[in-house]
Amino acid sequence: MASETLAARGRMVERQLRRRGVSDERVLAAMGKVPRELFVPPSARELAYEDGALPIGYGQTISQPYIVGVICSLLSLGGSESVLDVGTGSGYQAAVLAELAAEVTTIERMPELVEKAQDALAEAGYDDVDVRLGDGSLGVPEKAPFDGIAVAAAAPTVPEHLYGQLAEGGRLVLPKGSRWGQDLVLVVKTGEGPVERRSVPCRFVPLLGEEGFGDG
Ligand code: SAH
Repeated sequence: MASETLAARGRMVERQLRRRGVSDERVLAAMGKVPRELFVPPSARELAYEDGALPIGYGQTISQPYIVGVICSLLSLGGSESVLDVGTGSGYQAAVLAELAAEVTTIERMPELVEKAQDALAEAGYDDVDVRLGDGSLGVPEKAPFDGIAVAAAAPTVPEHLYGQLAEGGRLVLPKGSRWGQDLVLVVKTGEGPVERRSVPCRFVPLLGEEGFGDG
């Protein structure tokens, strides 16, 4: 691998993540390892480690590295967990999660993106990630319960099916708000019901489907 790529990835970890407060060493190591350049379109490879989201086609984006770092940190993964990633997109978030947890299932509603993400994940060496096509707002009931659920598309409320598929003590992170702006929210499942904590402001594409913003 080209040494410039490795250097760019190292700078991303230091400047965009650590310097801004991402302190979970496992997350920093995972993002220092996953080849983000394989998850962006070939024409955008030289922008792979820039500080922002990038278009991946079909009106969708690969999330900003900082936001991926915050989502992964909020999930507090130790390595033994089963996690669900909703909104596969490029597959990058799923690859980072694969470095952090034991089992990763990811679901995407656009068939073209499922295919591309599967190819990128295989090329990067993450072929054990289970990539599904479907409405992720309904979760993946047959693989529940999950210790962690990361949602990469904005929802107006916490989708009930997703909360229902969390294990006791499980953690769900989602961008909650309107179509135009949201806050990343951590929801922990407890015996007394959901406990919510607000994190950083963000801007994601809308979660479509039954428990998101519908189909349009
Ligand atoms: N995690 C991705 C970011 C993807 S952007 C990455 O690392 O690249 C959000 C994705 O969510 C888009 O690909 C969009 O098609 C998908 N999406 C939106 N609503 C969805 C739904 N109901 N079910 C599954 N995927 C959905």
